[in-house]
Amino acid sequence: MAENLIDIRELKKYYPVHGGIFKRHIADIKAVDGVDLKIEKGECLGLVGESGCGKTTLGKTILRLHGATSGRIYFGQSEDIIERIESLLKSENPEERQEGEKLLRQHDLTRLSRKNLLPLRKKIQIVFQDPSNSLNPRMLVKAIIAEPLIAQRLMSGKDIEKRVLELLYTVGLAKEHMMRYPHEFSGGQRQRIAIARALATYPEFILMDEPTSALDVSVQAQILNLLKKLQDEFKLTYLFVTHHLLVVKHISNRIAVMYLGKMAELGPTAEIFDKPLHPYTKALLSAIPIPDPKTKMEKIILSGDVPNPINPPSGCRFHPRCKYAKDICREVEPKLEVAEGRHQVACHRWKEIS
Ligand code: SF4
Repeated sequence: MAENLIDIRELKKYYPVHGGIFKRHIADIKAVDGVDLKIEKGECLGLVGESGCGKTTLGKTILRLHGATSGRIYFGQSEDIIERIESLLKSENPEERQEGEKLLRQHDLTRLSRKNLLPLRKKIQIVFQDPSNSLNPRMLVKAIIAEPLIAQRLMSGKDIEKRVLELLYTVGLAKEHMMRYPHEFSGGQRQRIAIARALATYPEFILMDEPTSALDVSVQAQILNLLKKLQDEFKLTYLFVTHHLLVVKHISNRIAVMYLGKMAELGPTAEIFDKPLHPYTKALLSAIPIPDPKTKMEKIILSGDVPNPINPPSGCRFHPRCKYAKDICREVEPKLEVAEGRHQVACHRWKEIS
């Protein structure tokens, strides 16, 4: 069985909405609303869904760029300790629950103090969508890549320069690029610099937040191939957030489909593409253009927009747009259940409609 690097339990991230003259808390935007997810060591997990489904928020909450509202995130923890904490938290005995809370402060990423979080920072990195915004235009490439090494006090002096040079070569750039500014590079080269910076601290996990979406199509494939190569070379684990399904098909081992803050379907990439089980996944896949005019595929047009995450629909959140919806779908929320092997789906009627 594959070992998990990240184990997420019942994660919620709500953004408060304030209104009225006294700016009182009147509602919450439920961006991530009770997500359970395991990311295996060395895999690339693709996270897909429409804009506003909560995929980027989920990624940034894992990185602690956003604080979680509730839930647990275990990073690099053994199965034994996770199960022990989880069983203590469910205990009827208040003392055992207290013991569980105490252990959470040492092992749950959402609760770690700043001091305890610091050593983890170097293991967890991010590559943002748009390198033009994520790279400081006033800094030389050398300083940009060296920044996390200095902040983490991993190296000093000549060692930093050596490491920067090594990273530039790793991402396909050269020594002469060290003393240039980001605006002197093309979009693809800027993304290579951002990747080099993410690799600087020898991370184990990198959140790829739409890393190819802002690039020209011709450059996208080069960056994807580079990311694949780096993953193999450094045994990295990726969470690859994107709305582009063909990109995740190319790079991911498994795919997780999110809808309105919840997981709809999760499974190995080939299975999700060959036999999607959730009506939402089917609709997403049917929208992929096929580059062969002779091949016809029925497009599933979803009616209406994604509902408001402040007041999501009852039961299955997808029911107002689902042609298979029945009474149970409006009343009972479907849970992510195992369909087969590692394939999971959250739909009451997947057996009838698959
Ligand atoms: Fe559609 Fe019901 Fe399945 Fe939701 S639970 S996706 S509404 S069939």
